[in-house]
Amino acid sequence: MHSEQPAVALQTDRVYFFDTTLRDGEQSPGCTMHHAEKLRMAHQLASLGVDILEAGFAIASEGDSESIRAIAREVGSSARGPIIASLARCKREDIEAAARSIEPAARGRIHTFLSTSDLHLAAKLKITREQAVDQIAESVALARTYTDNVEFSPEDATRTDPEFLVKVCTVAIQAGATTLNLPDTVGYCIPQDYGDMFRMVRARVPGIENITLSAHCHDDLGLAVANTIAAIQAGVRQAECAINGIGERAGNAALEEIAAILVVRKDKLPYTHNIVMNQLYPTSQMLAGCISFGAAPNKAIVGANAFAHAAGIHQHGVMVNPLTYEIMTPESVGVPHNSLVLGKHSGRRALEQRYVELGHPLTREQLNEVYARFTELADRKKTIYDQDLIGLLQAEQSTIAIG
Ligand code: MN
Repeated sequence: MHSEQPAVALQTDRVYFFDTTLRDGEQSPGCTMHHAEKLRMAHQLASLGVDILEAGFAIASEGDSESIRAIAREVGSSARGPIIASLARCKREDIEAAARSIEPAARGRIHTFLSTSDLHLAAKLKITREQAVDQIAESVALARTYTDNVEFSPEDATRTDPEFLVKVCTVAIQAGATTLNLPDTVGYCIPQDYGDMFRMVRARVPGIENITLSAHCHDDLGLAVANTIAAIQAGVRQAECAINGIGERAGNAALEEIAAILVVRKDKLPYTHNIVMNQLYPTSQMLAGCISFGAAPNKAIVGANAFAHAAGIHQHGVMVNPLTYEIMTPESVGVPHNSLVLGKHSGRRALEQRYVELGHPLTREQLNEVYARFTELADRKKTIYDQDLIGLLQAEQSTIAIG
């Protein structure tokens, strides 16, 4: 499933997916996972085709370190499987812990980071810019003694003085970083600015053409995915993201949305990638089963209503031709067919039963109403999805008739 990839993605038209569901995602409220759940998710993420799997933050706890090691052994043992990454601050003990945790992987990566905005340097780290530069150079070089695959992130890059950002990127590359990730740590950027930041470093940092550039966006303003796309258009070839968009605060860029955008808008974004599209929905569902919340019903791609056409005028369009309101099919992102296929020959009882299974038991009156609409839909649409049935019900319940 995985094709061999170099440590560095050079002048490629391929976008590499770096999944941080088990690190940035897992460290957010309500998203804690047990060891067995992390392993199950890691196997599924490999089936989904993620290129790099950030499995945790080794120094954070013994449990985290154990999980990364197990994932490296079980999921990362083949050179054709994902690269297994561990996060590490720019500290010797962090880097050593990360190195130990990824040891069993055929291909491991140490991902080291240090804040570079003046605000973070003064308020959080209480160090000078010069001290930060020294720590970055030392830490990246130390990480390189353990693996030839080292990612460096200047945390809060989007609020870092551009001159200093150029300096930091230059130093990290000279010290041996193979991937440079410029995170919008606080979700502050708008797409144009995020793209411009990458254009600026590409123009000014010596040797940047020899490394992979990476985006890591947070959704505090609802722009995580838009910013990631802007970065890709500015030459970035690694997208850091998480299933269902989980992550610190409002979350990370949603993996399923980035992948769907690259597929649906290939006309404007002519990049290849390794994501197995019909594994998106199963992966989303598995994550929902591991943590304390699922995707919102109106969440793009994987939400329960993502393919439901409730408004009458939309239903009419979809009946005539699904392309009127569907830019992709539920099937293409892995929304399952039901074992009992509902079609125009299905009777009332089958329909009634399906609504019970969907958690919407109907009154006799509702069933009559919905059944009439159902047969009309089934006449024109080859496959009736559960989402269609929910849409029919919502249309039936709506007091405002549209179209
Ligand atoms: Mn983050």
